[in-house]
Amino acid sequence: MYNVPADFINEQKVWQILDANKTADFGRTKEVLAKAREMKGLNLEDVAVLTNISDPEMLSELFNTANEVKETIYGKRLVVFAPLYISNLCANECLYCAFRATNKEIVRSVLSQEHIAGEVKALINQGQKRILLVAGESYPNQGFQYVLDSIKTIYSIKTDHGEVRRVNVNVAPLKTEEFKLLKDSGIGTYQIFQETYHRETYDKVHVAGKKRDYNWRAWSLHRAMEAGINDVGIGVLFGLFDYRFEILAMMQHINELEEKFGVGPHTISVPRLEPATNSNIASHPPFPVSDIDFRKIVAILRLAVPYTGIIMSTRETAKMRRETFALGVSQISAGSRTNPGGYEEETEDDPSGQFSLGDHRSLDEVIRDVASMGYIPSFCTACYRLGRTGQDFMDLAKPGDIKLHCGPNALSSF
Ligand code: SAM
Ligand code: SF4
Repeated sequence: MYNVPADFINEQKVWQILDANKTADFGRTKEVLAKAREMKGLNLEDVAVLTNISDPEMLSELFNTANEVKETIYGKRLVVFAPLYISNLCANECLYCAFRATNKEIVRSVLSQEHIAGEVKALINQGQKRILLVAGESYPNQGFQYVLDSIKTIYSIKTDHGEVRRVNVNVAPLKTEEFKLLKDSGIGTYQIFQETYHRETYDKVHVAGKKRDYNWRAWSLHRAMEAGINDVGIGVLFGLFDYRFEILAMMQHINELEEKFGVGPHTISVPRLEPATNSNIASHPPFPVSDIDFRKIVAILRLAVPYTGIIMSTRETAKMRRETFALGVSQISAGSRTNPGGYEEETEDDPSGQFSLGDHRSLDEVIRDVASMGYIPSFCTACYRLGRTGQDFMDLAKPGDIKLHCGPNALSSF
């Protein structure tokens, strides 16, 4: 289904809007920031104005506004999770990723259910309650059932330290029937990143395998939502193409989901290209995003879609992560490993990982740091358990009421 062009991504329109708002003056920029303070989101023209800010004074006004909006909606809480890589087999050829099929420089592994159970115990004993299951796009003999079995295994593990309460999933796009099975397995959010919305760049960096099909990927969140998955996550791999274009195109995707399903994405991820074993493009991004622009991206997204969670992974350094908390990040991974089996064996930056990490600290260290900055690390999963997903979550989040629930819950689950 949906093997037709993803026409909701209109590249020509993105360029037109960027061009028309290239020379916005201070007055217009201030007008957009004032609108952003109303916390009702921004349209594409407004977002284009913000992407063009370069004046230091305006930039700090943008950051302050993003901080205000973040604190008003989310308060001081930061949701914490860990990724769990179950397999690094992959049939695709994404030039930026160490898992790509022809890369002979990494050791391939597919975790058995026993091994996954061991990893989950290690994560629970660290204190984790939320897991993001990640895999390459090629499953062992049992096919997609392997992912379903793995989710079942994760939820089945109980230790003296507790259990995993929410499994989110980042695997390749599925058929609608498979999404239904994923929904029935009790997942939280299904997330998938378009990587780049720019079709020409997409073609250049995905040179073989199913992932070459831009449209199949672009329509995947439609299929997920039709299958009943209420919470979906979206993202761009920053560094592949012009970040201004990517933000506007992602806004088109968000608007499309809101129009069709009445609810936008639950989360936005902002991965920035990191070095990966045997990948030239990962070490030399075609459109490198500077630290200042990266902070700008987070701040703009916070204002454009104030009710959507922003995820910051351990691709970024501790310093950058700290800076972005104040700009709008609401969820962070911590103590992460990107090589299958990395938790039980406690490997650090294994060359068989998907990419290099920027933050190597343990969960414990991250928690202490976050708490010392006045944030409340949250292991709460109440929304999900009480069915506050999709539209129900947005109804709570939109007027800024979510923090009334989250603050106390974060404290009690800490
Ligand atoms: N294999 C599936 C896919 O590609 O959709 C799902 C998981 S993939 C392991 C997760 C994400 O990692 C990708 O969507 C991509 O954005 C990100 N990624 C890949 N290589 C990266 C790199 N060198 N630096 C940062 N992120 C990277
Ligand atoms: Fe495979 Fe995903 Fe890596 Fe592409 S990004 S090579 S699909 S694991």
